[in-house]
Amino acid sequence: MNHYQPNAADSGFILFDVLQAPGTLAGLPALADNADPDLMHQVLEEAGKFVAEVVAPLNREGDETGAQWKAGSVTMPPGFRDAYQAFWQAGWPALASASEDGGQGLPAVLEAMLYEMLSAANHGWTMAPGLLHGAYECIKHHASDELKARYLAKVATGEWLATMCLTEPHAGSDLGLARTRAVPLPDDPEGRYALSGTKIFISGGEHDLTDNIVHLVLARLPDSPPGPKGLSLFLIPKFYEDGSRSAVVCERIEEKMGLHGSPTCVMRFDEAAAWIVGEPGKGLNAMFVMMNAARLHVGLQGIGLLDAAWQKADAYARERRQMRAPGSTAKAGEADLIEQHPAMRRILDAQRSWIDAGRVIAYRTALELDVIKHHPDATRREAAARWCSLVTPVLKSAWTDQAFTGGSACLQVFGGHGYVREWGIEQHVRDARVAMIYEGTNEIQAIDLLLRKVLPDGGAALQALLAELAGELDGSPQGQRTRQALTRFAQFTGERLLGRTRSPGASPELPFWLADDFLRALAMLLMAWAWSRIGAAPGAEAARWTVAQTGFWRWVWPEFDLRMAMLDASLEQA
Ligand SMILES: Cc1cc2nc3c(=O)[nH]c(=O)nc-3n(C[C@H](O)[C@H](O)[C@H](O)COP(=O)(O)OP(=O)(O)OC[C@H]3O[C@@H](n4cnc5c(N)ncnc54)[C@H](O)[C@@H]3O)c2cc1C
Repeated sequence: MNHYQPNAADSGFILFDVLQAPGTLAGLPALADNADPDLMHQVLEEAGKFVAEVVAPLNREGDETGAQWKAGSVTMPPGFRDAYQAFWQAGWPALASASEDGGQGLPAVLEAMLYEMLSAANHGWTMAPGLLHGAYECIKHHASDELKARYLAKVATGEWLATMCLTEPHAGSDLGLARTRAVPLPDDPEGRYALSGTKIFISGGEHDLTDNIVHLVLARLPDSPPGPKGLSLFLIPKFYEDGSRSAVVCERIEEKMGLHGSPTCVMRFDEAAAWIVGEPGKGLNAMFVMMNAARLHVGLQGIGLLDAAWQKADAYARERRQMRAPGSTAKAGEADLIEQHPAMRRILDAQRSWIDAGRVIAYRTALELDVIKHHPDATRREAAARWCSLVTPVLKSAWTDQAFTGGSACLQVFGGHGYVREWGIEQHVRDARVAMIYEGTNEIQAIDLLLRKVLPDGGAALQALLAELAGELDGSPQGQRTRQALTRFAQFTGERLLGRTRSPGASPELPFWLADDFLRALAMLLMAWAWSRIGAAPGAEAARWTVAQTGFWRWVWPEFDLRMAMLDASLEQA
């Protein structure tokens, strides 16, 4: 079984030739010194080496042995701790953290690319550091100076791992239902609170990768209003500074469909002493920083996992021979390679087109994250915030769906050999399924896009995004086709959708029926924009890119018309 191999040349083509990232980064004074293309190339090469040599070989073992729970402790699969220790000591988790916090101050897009490779190589292992950067941002922007002095550098460097404790048995998508309580500890010199309650499905709630774990927990203060506004955020470590253990207990870990290398923990808080992070009642706000970063990372997981499945299927299709392909020159009694059969080529080229377009969109989103933080011009920062707000739910939802459905299509390339364990492709399909569920289910992403980000401002932000996409297209046939589709979507949203959803007597259910088709149509437009951008880049005439480009326009893009027809049908029947 072959391991995932990062391909820095492919990713670099998108970053440097298609997106021309150094140009964008040069406009950000805080990052300009670290945006040297040679340095960025070198970081990507080194990241690829670490992923291929240290993390990818542990993937199968992580799945087969899995994380093991015994009497409240979790032992990670063989090799996981050593790999993690090597990872943080080499400075990888601190890539994009600020230098004053112990980080390297490199652009966020390099971190995004690192995590895409890591997820492709070993999704289970990567769950552990996957939340670190979000936790770092959350502590940096919301914690008191005292808390920062104790925890920020440890989390920024990854010396200690962090968790995000939101979900409760009865509170999943609806966090406003959370019941975990926080009561002020009388006479505590540090002004802490006693935390009591149970959180479930907590990734990395307990493990032996690092010597300490920093939990960020949503809980409710006494007399707080019901619903999300009553939630506050708390920080509680596994071990306090004096070495004593906090009253946080891992009760068990879940048996799961996949992702066996990541312990999914039930965590009990028994009046555990915790510090508040940020203001009372503003917990979701503080957590928001973490969730947004996490959603981009889950989109990157989707891209990475699909690439891992594609690599396996592509390699198999170049070895396995069955039947004669149409127009075959094979002699009687001989068979052609699987890759020569159009049905198989179609699967591979369509998935490749999702991966490459996903990279353009995800890397651009990561670049916009740095623009939000560092650009001197407020209008440019606003445009970047708009991009991230609208594009992140599309990326999270559409590319995690694709990691599973496209991964399953890649499994099909193996025939029966895909369904058995030997080739490792079935692990990718099992592991990928969860990304459609966590960090806000894909249904919640669609509702977030349409009901929270498009309808409330009368479609103004969306129209600005569509105009921005159109403004970046050239006059090629693909560019023109994409521009026409952008206009069609803008008109549909501005005239039909807003008109119908706002008309007196319109069913309140209507936008909820439409949300998923709306998100998918926007995903198609973003992909068409991405492929038009790739097509316009010098070097895109190489077969490597033209094959995937053809795959996109032929096998993927027609979904745009389908989604528009579904949106129309819903409006007509409303
Ligand atoms: C492996 C794994 C790791 C996880 N890691 C973490 C973690 O580290 N920290 C953490 O806090 N949580 C974690 N989670 C929890 C995860 O975020 C939740 O499972 C997820 O948010 C969904 O909540 P739920 O499972 O309670 O489903 P529910 O909220 O009960 O939803 C059930 C179904 O109803 C749909 N639904 C709910 N509300 C609506 C609506 N308004 N409109 C349309 N459809 C709706 C959902 O989309 C879903 O399909 C993890 C889960 C898993 C499986």
